[in-house]
Amino acid sequence: MTKKKSPSAKGSNASRTATRAKAADSAPPPRLSGDSADPAGWHPDTRMIHGGVLRSDFKETAEAIYMTSGFVYSSAEEAEAAFANTKPRFVYSRFSNPTVQMFESRMTLLEGAEDARATASGMAAVFASLACQLKAGDRVVAADALFGSCQYILAEILPRYGIETVLIDGRDLGAWRKALSKPTAAVFLETPSNPGLRIVDLKAVCDLAHKAGASVVVDNVFATPLLQKPLEYGADVVVYSATKHIDGQGRALGGIVLGSRSFINDKLQPFLRHTGPSLSPMNAWLLLKGLETLELRLDRQCASALRVAQFLASQKKIETVLYPGLKSHPQHALAKRQMKAGGTLVSFDLKGGKAGAFRFLNALKLILISNNLGDSKSLTTHPATTTHQRLGPELRRQQGIGDGMVRLSVGLEAPEDLEADLAQALKAV
Ligand SMILES: *Cc1c(COP(=O)(O)O)cnc(C)c1O
Repeated sequence: MTKKKSPSAKGSNASRTATRAKAADSAPPPRLSGDSADPAGWHPDTRMIHGGVLRSDFKETAEAIYMTSGFVYSSAEEAEAAFANTKPRFVYSRFSNPTVQMFESRMTLLEGAEDARATASGMAAVFASLACQLKAGDRVVAADALFGSCQYILAEILPRYGIETVLIDGRDLGAWRKALSKPTAAVFLETPSNPGLRIVDLKAVCDLAHKAGASVVVDNVFATPLLQKPLEYGADVVVYSATKHIDGQGRALGGIVLGSRSFINDKLQPFLRHTGPSLSPMNAWLLLKGLETLELRLDRQCASALRVAQFLASQKKIETVLYPGLKSHPQHALAKRQMKAGGTLVSFDLKGGKAGAFRFLNALKLILISNNLGDSKSLTTHPATTTHQRLGPELRRQQGIGDGMVRLSVGLEAPEDLEADLAQALKAV
């Protein structure tokens, strides 16, 4: 990025290039208005179907897939104006594309954020949301119960660039208070966490973080944009792996970062533009289609998850069931306060450790073994040997991931069939 101030040579080519690069860097991509307005009164379910549509002159019903890497100019002057950002238009799909923009606009409306940028995967979104605002010498405080790759970014990658990272038990407000007693640049957390379904008090942590000067980034994948609104509790940035519930049908990877217009335009946009973790227009289209049915799917999946959690809690071969929507969850009251429902994931500890868990998984007939989640198909995984294998036994113990733990992502199947499959597999334990 040409951020260096050029010496006084006003009007020289070098200074013009630097100014132009800066203007284009921080300029938002054009927000072309389509003919689908978004009256403020629309409910979220309506917005998820019509929000952000850019309809072309062909007046298509479904959103168009602009499968193009670049865009053409009618003259050299127009190209110059596009790069100087004096004429807003699409320039190059690494940083702006109409189909991707429709997905970003729809997500912005859904989250209640000022702006958003989509990325190729959830991890690209997580990394960009932190890397775009941090520099050597900065300090980050994070809850330790994290998705495996988020943990790797915080514990392994950021420290290599001279960023200090402090990982604490996200449930413990005393630990947050202590860690945030020093100036801090950013806070990162996930709630509910994967796979232990631990809850972080969003309001209390955002207040403490802001006093320490930190910007709060929340990975809201497990709660989804419908069940929990981190911005309302004071979070500054929300990130999603859209691969999960937003696609929800196991077809596409994607991610998105949402926040204030100034964060998105001044910090995130230049980072994404020049490092290039761009979402494909094809995947953006699949994610738009996913949003159209998100509420229906989530309603059904949350209801089934609660039912399955209650069923599992009544089984003798299961030691503990973790589900934020169950009264027995140690942080049920907090979960109820900040989430609309308990979510689509249930974790439970089987008697018999790893051997017991493996016997159970291998006996399942309907529920598939897969590390993905939020899918229409019910999926199950053994975190200690898959998603959280890399952590090693000590870190797993700290995060409450035992050898007998199984994580179940409840899908759209008839709950009776899921219960029958779980019951017959439990017989094998
Ligand atoms: C899946 C997931 C990610 C990573 O998303 P990808 O799309 O797989 O890159 C990050 N955080 C959480 C909580 C996740 O579940």
